[in-house]
Amino acid sequence: MKIICIGRNYAEHAKELNNPVPAKPVFFMKPDTALLPPHNPFFYPPFTNDLHYEVELVIKISRNGRSIAEKFAHKYYQEIGVGIDFTARDLQQECKQKGLPWELAKAFDFSAPVSKFVPVSGFASLNDINFGLKINNEWRQRGNSRDMIFSFDRIIAYVSQFVMLRKGDYIFTGTPEGVGPAKINDHFELFIGDELMLAFNVK
Ligand code: MG
Repeated sequence: MKIICIGRNYAEHAKELNNPVPAKPVFFMKPDTALLPPHNPFFYPPFTNDLHYEVELVIKISRNGRSIAEKFAHKYYQEIGVGIDFTARDLQQECKQKGLPWELAKAFDFSAPVSKFVPVSGFASLNDINFGLKINNEWRQRGNSRDMIFSFDRIIAYVSQFVMLRKGDYIFTGTPEGVGPAKINDHFELFIGDELMLAFNVK
């Protein structure tokens, strides 16, 4: 499977990192080795001094497809979860300045902890999903899918023009504002609505 990640999908987050709000989705990928195995802690990587968390809704692709029309995109996912797009912000800044790809900063081992998934049929509207991240029992990020620049369906339509989607792929759909540094000994709790979806420690 593969992990596709959308960048700059919340206007307030694009602003906080001084990035322009994009006219088209920006995407990059993480390998399956970026998944954090269940019940494991996340170990702070030795190659960064500025590891940032980005909490994001994650959709799980439920069937294969290429060049999917936006009006049919809803048929390609049935479950939603929440994850962290861990980012070595110092390395990413270097990559951006030099015009280099972001893999060093984004695709490293265990950089994509993902929660359990819940059925999309359980939500009254996919355009009104609250989600968030608590660290050490304090809210650090809270978002709502209504603030996405590009909807789940638009993302699927756009990405699948370039990259075939396969059953089991994950799409990280972008982070709201409030990203910041993770620290050793932090306790992460990821929520959709009031439901605790994933918890892990940084070591
Ligand atoms: Mg992200």
